[in-house]
Amino acid sequence: MVRVTAADLTAALVAIDSVNPALVPGGAGEAEIAGFLVRWAAENGLDAQVLEATPGRPSVIITARGSGGGRTLLLCGHTDTVGVDGMTAPHTPRRDGDRLYGRGTCDMKAGLAAALVAARDAAAAGLAGDVVVACVADEEHASLGVQEALTHVRADAAIITEPTREAIIVAHKGFVWADVLVEGFAAHGSRPELGVDAIVHAGAVLTALGALDAELIGREPHPVLGRGSVHAGTISGGIEASSYPGRCAITVERRTLPGEGEATLARELEAVLERATAAQPGLRASFALGLSREPFAIDPEHELVGLTRDAAAHELGATPALTGAPYWTDAAFIAAAGIPALLFGPTGEGEHALEEWVSVASLEAVTRTLTRIATTFCA
Ligand SMILES: [Zn+2]
Repeated sequence: MVRVTAADLTAALVAIDSVNPALVPGGAGEAEIAGFLVRWAAENGLDAQVLEATPGRPSVIITARGSGGGRTLLLCGHTDTVGVDGMTAPHTPRRDGDRLYGRGTCDMKAGLAAALVAARDAAAAGLAGDVVVACVADEEHASLGVQEALTHVRADAAIITEPTREAIIVAHKGFVWADVLVEGFAAHGSRPELGVDAIVHAGAVLTALGALDAELIGREPHPVLGRGSVHAGTISGGIEASSYPGRCAITVERRTLPGEGEATLARELEAVLERATAAQPGLRASFALGLSREPFAIDPEHELVGLTRDAAAHELGATPALTGAPYWTDAAFIAAAGIPALLFGPTGEGEHALEEWVSVASLEAVTRTLTRIATTFCA
């Protein structure tokens, strides 16, 4: 049997179109790549379980079984990619020096390949515990895959192998969305005695929102995430120049720090509307919370952090940085399920861009690091 390298496996995964169909109508989805992963697991003596609560959107749980009595390490990566519009030969992996190009190389088929090869190689060393690789669908849209995987998988710790550029990410922000509605009274532009201008009234809400963000700047920053923030995302209202607008709708996004969530934004928006009403008598405004995602953090003193730092230092030749990510990831779902988690993955560029690549040397070093972590954690 040929034991492929992480780079070879990345190329094989990139050659399979797995564009997320929720992002791009008609996208290939994860069915073909899931089939490939099931065959790969069988060829390498690993167990595979397909989860497909949503038809056509399968995730695959691949397990390197230990002899029993050890701890379980979960490695997690997503199989879907964003779209390929404007790219040339996105699913033809191309090697140029240290770089492997193609859609999904960096985000994140390389990280997934590193996890799979590490599970295979660590198991070959003879472990007591299991190494589980969750190959999850739909991370780029609604995270269906990781949520389904977490109903089947228990683990003592988890590493998400997104392309962190060899840094250890120990926290990231969450977010909460809200819809704010400002109501006026629609009337002909020539009838100021009748009209109430919802757009002008919305101005008071926006000013108060700006004041809230300024207040967040003044708070004690999180050690690796900095400050929380709030901003308007969209605004719509009015029909034509000659009429008083009867309504103005604003969407708001709050980026949250650990300890903050939906209740935080609800409280803050009540205060924003109160402040706006003081500035704009007669203001009629309300809000409704929308989608929200939790922030994530691991205690920097947790054993997994030290183990990853030491293993990475050994394989990379330099101690990796402990840092926060500005973006949201599936790690939040894993941490919320009670599994201590961090993110660690290879160096590359061009996630969601027209030219995407991963460093093969970095991919190989990350693979060896993950193998070393699994060998110690699951011994
Ligand atoms: Zn990703």
